[in-house]
Amino acid sequence: MSDLHPVLRDLPAVDRLLQEPALAELLERMPRRLILAAAQETLQGCRRRLLAGRDETGAGGAGPDLSPAVLAREAAELALSRARPGLRPVINATGVVLHTNLGRAPLAASAAEAVAGIMEHYCNLEIDLGKGVRGSRQAHLERLLCMLTGAEAAVVVNNNAAAVFLMLNSCAADKEVIVSRGQLVEIGGSFRLPEVMAASGVRLVEVGTTNKTYRHDYEAAIGEDTAALMKVHTSNYHLIGFTASVEAAELVSLAHARDLLAFEDLGSGLLLDLTRHGLPPEPRVQDSIAAGMDLVAFSGDKLLGGPQAGIIVGRRELIQKICANQLARVMRVDRLAVAALEATLRLYLDEERAVREIPAWRALTVPLPRLQERAEALAAALRESFGEEGINLWEGSSRVGGGAVPTAELPTVLLSLQSPHLETAALAGRLRCGDPPVVVRVQQERLLLDLRTVYPEQDGLLLKAILEAGEKRQS
Ligand SMILES: *Cc1c(COP(=O)(O)O)cnc(C)c1O
Repeated sequence: MSDLHPVLRDLPAVDRLLQEPALAELLERMPRRLILAAAQETLQGCRRRLLAGRDETGAGGAGPDLSPAVLAREAAELALSRARPGLRPVINATGVVLHTNLGRAPLAASAAEAVAGIMEHYCNLEIDLGKGVRGSRQAHLERLLCMLTGAEAAVVVNNNAAAVFLMLNSCAADKEVIVSRGQLVEIGGSFRLPEVMAASGVRLVEVGTTNKTYRHDYEAAIGEDTAALMKVHTSNYHLIGFTASVEAAELVSLAHARDLLAFEDLGSGLLLDLTRHGLPPEPRVQDSIAAGMDLVAFSGDKLLGGPQAGIIVGRRELIQKICANQLARVMRVDRLAVAALEATLRLYLDEERAVREIPAWRALTVPLPRLQERAEALAAALRESFGEEGINLWEGSSRVGGGAVPTAELPTVLLSLQSPHLETAALAGRLRCGDPPVVVRVQQERLLLDLRTVYPEQDGLLLKAILEAGEKRQS
């Protein structure tokens, strides 16, 4: 014990900390094990700091305050933060509409209500109420999906990565599938098409070059073992300059002329015409079905604006094959996603309603003057705290995100904030750790807020969060 760091001996015991008012009070309203763990963690952290930085407490320095009261307060703060739910709503002030790290598409109110309505109750997930026999969870979605896309049949699984995997595994295992080299995408670091294809048991045959692939490239690669030609939407990049690719209808005509299947991984599940809203064109699901694709896979939580899901639409016999695959059971959707997706799809029966009520679409279509107005109001309310120089409004652009329309720049108004006494990174950090947390953009040492992705009813909360984060205080 003699070589024990002198101050370590002075650290109070856990039991002693628990007697301090700061923790004793918490014990009355919080699980004991949460508080005990926080006290132990605080002491451990303290021990580690002391051992790592002896000089800090060496000769001359008064040393850190290790009194039970101070440590108990630190532990209480830790316990309080641990008692909050880990997953919480945040204010997205980044202007990235479909932000994968922020949960991608927020649900429409009617979809959230649908989830809430079945969450605590039994439901008819797999019972045909009319006939009183076992039903399918897919039935709640299939009719709507067919109506909206023009497909014969549909099946929904956990996400689009699963959908693509299942489509290939069910309809082309041990065979070859031909894909253009210009379309071998990686999405979000974890979906790499060549690897998903290999894992699904199909052999990828790459054709063409990075920038140009022609009909004859596919044609020359077709052999005895070929099962399908597949088109993959280059969701998160665009080829510009000298490029060539084969349109869906042409790929389909080639595939069918040679008795092969035509698949498409569309990525974002777009059902609306983007150009009607001033955005660059993107392929819609119904266009791919109309072009004759046998199977089309897409996400539920990108431009569709629903829950995480992977949707496959197409020919009935192929969808039946997919449903019969044991792996479909491994990747099946849960009833909360079924409820949310059904309600989201229902909104699309009336396009105007979909645009008005799906948060991602509301964000994509909010008029610029409205953003300007709100940004000006926020700036005015912040002037007193941040000063005239601390606040600026800039012209900028928002992003669609979520692997969709990568080059689209949506004109927006950016509110740039600079605190008179805090570094940009510190202010951004405080905003992230606030309640509710606010996630902002930091660009070239500037903190930027884009109100496009902030719900108008959150403006007051956002103002309060910024004022709190900007206050003078320690840490
Ligand atoms: C986003 C995307 C995926 C993956 O979809 P998840 O729903 O995230 O699993 C697959 N392919 C393409 C082309 C995509 O854009």
